[in-house]
Amino acid sequence: MDEPRLSPFEAVTDGVYVAVAEPASVNVGLVVGTESALVVDTGSSPHQGEQIRQAAEQVAGVPLGAVAVTHWHWDHFFGLAAFADLPSYGHETLAERLGSPDLLAEAAGQGVDATELRAPNRPFSLARVIDLGGRRVELVHFGRGHTEGDVVAIVPDANTIFAGDLLEQSGPPSFGPDCHLKDWPSAVDGILGLVDEDTVIIPGHGSPVDRFFGFEQRARISAVYGQVEYLVSRGVKLDAAYQAGEWPFEAEVIRPLLPLAYQQLAAEGKVPRTHLPML
Ligand SMILES: [Zn+2]
Repeated sequence: MDEPRLSPFEAVTDGVYVAVAEPASVNVGLVVGTESALVVDTGSSPHQGEQIRQAAEQVAGVPLGAVAVTHWHWDHFFGLAAFADLPSYGHETLAERLGSPDLLAEAAGQGVDATELRAPNRPFSLARVIDLGGRRVELVHFGRGHTEGDVVAIVPDANTIFAGDLLEQSGPPSFGPDCHLKDWPSAVDGILGLVDEDTVIIPGHGSPVDRFFGFEQRARISAVYGQVEYLVSRGVKLDAAYQAGEWPFEAEVIRPLLPLAYQQLAAEGKVPRTHLPML
C-alpha cells in the first residue's frame, strides 16, 4: 500500500481545486468564494483530514466555512473529525454507518481508531445550498447508487460538478456490497441532466471528465443490471451467468459482482425459473 499523502491542490476551473489523497487516490475538492471556502471529501483518516484542512486554508486565502462528504466510504469520510468545529454536510445515512460492522472493519483495516470518526453535523436527505460569498454550491442526493447516500456537489457558476464515486475515471466504477445496481443509473442521470458541452465533472477517483464520459459510463453501469435481469428471465442460474452473458466490464469486475446482482434481483422477486416443457 502507498504511504498516506496528499498532492498539492491544483486549479481545475475558476476557484475550484482538486488534491489527490493517497493511498486510495481519492479526489479532494476545494471551492473558494469571496468570503469562505468549502472542502469536498476529507481523506482516509483524521490525520489526513488535518493535512487537507491546512493545505486548503493556504490555497483558499479565505477561511474554510464548511465541509461536505460525498459518501460513507473510508477514503472520503474518515478525515471528517479534523473539521469538527465547522458545519459539515453529508447524507443523513452517514450517521447510521458510523457504528456499522462494515465501517468498523474498514477502520480496523486502515489502522484508524473508530471512536475518533465523526458524522456530519448538518445531515440532510435531499439537498442543501452553501453560500460561499459570490458563489453558491449545491449539494444534492440523486437517490441510491454507488451507496445509499451519495451526494453530488455542484458549482453552477464554474460549471463544475463533484460526482463522488457515482463516476470514476481511473478504473471501473466500484461495485461494492453496498451499491444499488438498479438505481445507480438514475442517480448518474441526475448529474447528466445538469451538464452541457463545457461542464467539468470531477469523479471520485481519476482525472476530470466531460459529459460523454459520463454518458458512456452510465450506459455500462446500466448494462450490468440489464444483462443480469435478462439472464434471470431466461432461467440462467448464477453459476452459469458469467459465461452466458455479454458484459460491459472485465471479468475481474463482473465475476465478484454477480452474486450481489442476483441477490438484488431476487429481492425484487426476480429469480431464475426452469420452464416446464410444453405438453
Ligand atoms: Zn466509494
